[in-house]
Amino acid sequence: MNELGIKSLRSPKATPITDDYEISNTVLGLGINGKVLECYSKKTREKHALKVLHDCTKARREVDLHWRASGCRHIVNIIDVYENTYSGNKCLLVVMECMEGGELFQRIQDRQDGAFTEREAAQIMREICLAVKYLHDMNIAHRDLKPENLLYTKPDETGILKLTDFGFAKETFSKDTLQTPCYTPYYVAPEVLGPEKYDKSCDIWSLGVIMYILLCGFPPFYSNHGLAISPGMKKRIRTGQYDFPDPEWKNVAQDAKELIRGMLCIDPTQRLTIEQVMRNKWIAQYTEVPQTPLHTGRMLREAEDIWPEVQEEMTRSLATMRVDYDQVHIKNLDNTNNPLLNKRRKRGVPDAIATAAQ
Ligand code: ADP
Repeated sequence: MNELGIKSLRSPKATPITDDYEISNTVLGLGINGKVLECYSKKTREKHALKVLHDCTKARREVDLHWRASGCRHIVNIIDVYENTYSGNKCLLVVMECMEGGELFQRIQDRQDGAFTEREAAQIMREICLAVKYLHDMNIAHRDLKPENLLYTKPDETGILKLTDFGFAKETFSKDTLQTPCYTPYYVAPEVLGPEKYDKSCDIWSLGVIMYILLCGFPPFYSNHGLAISPGMKKRIRTGQYDFPDPEWKNVAQDAKELIRGMLCIDPTQRLTIEQVMRNKWIAQYTEVPQTPLHTGRMLREAEDIWPEVQEEMTRSLATMRVDYDQVHIKNLDNTNNPLLNKRRKRGVPDAIATAAQ
C-alpha cells in the first residue's frame, strides 16, 4: 500500500524474481491460465505459491484486483508480483501465500473426528461471507466463487479458509460513479439502475450453492444425486427448481433453508445482498446454531467419483450467468440512452430489463 493507502497503484517489480525467490519444480496445481509452482523466499526461507501468467490485459486485471483484495484474512494474499521476460515471452509472476491445507470439501470429506455439524457449516459460511463482503465493499465481484477456489492455509486445525482465483473478478461501479446515466428516471426501480448488482448477485448465488452442499454433501441442482447430470439441469437452475430432501435435510434448521432460498432466488435483483446475508441470524449468530450432525461427510465420500462433474457443472453455470448478466449491462446502458424507450416508460409500459435478467 502506498502513502495514500491506494493499493492499485502498486506495480509489479521489473527485477528478476530469482533475485528474491528460489523456484522449485514442484507443481502445486494446474489452472486454465497457467501453472502454480512452489517457491521459497531467499530472505525468510518461507514456502510460497507462484502463479505464472502470460502477461496480457486480462492477467493484469486479475492481478490488480487480487492484489487490492489481499488485505482480507479470508482471501489468499499476494506477497509479490514480478514482470519478467522468458525467451521473449512476457510473464506476470504472482507470489502468493501457500495454501497447504487443500480444498474445503476435501477436508470435510477426509474428516475422521466425528460428524460435521450445522454450527461448523455456519462458521465456514461466515468466513466465506467475510471474504465476499470485503470484495463487494470495494466494488469487486469475484464471479467465480466455487468449491475449488476455497482453500485452507494448513491441513491442521490452525488452517484458515481463504478464497482465491481472481481470473473472472470484475470491478463493479456504484450508482454515483462514471457509469451513471446523466439523469435519473424516477419511474425505474432502483435495482434496474444499478448494473453492478448483477455481478455481485453472481457471488450470492455461489454462496447459496456452497451453503447447500455444506449442509448435505450434494448440490441443489442435480438430477438424482449419484446419477449423471441430466440435460434438464440447466433449466432447473434457471427456474430455481430444487428441494431439501430427507433424510439429509430432515434435521437442518428452517433458518438455514430460508437463507439458502434467499441466496438462490432466481431473480438476481431480488436475491439477498451480502449485507443481508451477513445480518441473517444463522450467519451473524453462528455460535448459537444447533450442533446437529450432518450427512455431508458421508455423502461427499459416497459421491467422490462424481465430484469432478459437480465442479464442472458449477463452472458452466457461473460462465452462463456471467454472460447473461453482462448482456443485461449492455441492454441497461442501451435502454437508458434510448429516447423512444424512455417515452414508453413514461407512459407506464412495463420495463423489460428486469425480466431479461431471468
Ligand atoms: P486458474 O485461475 O488458472 O484456474 P488457480 O488460481 O485456480 O488457476 O490455480 C490452479 C490450482 O493451483 C488450484 O486449483 C490449486 O490446486 C493450486 N493453487 C492455486 N493457488 C494456490 C496457492 N496459493 N497455494 C497452493 N496451491 C494453489
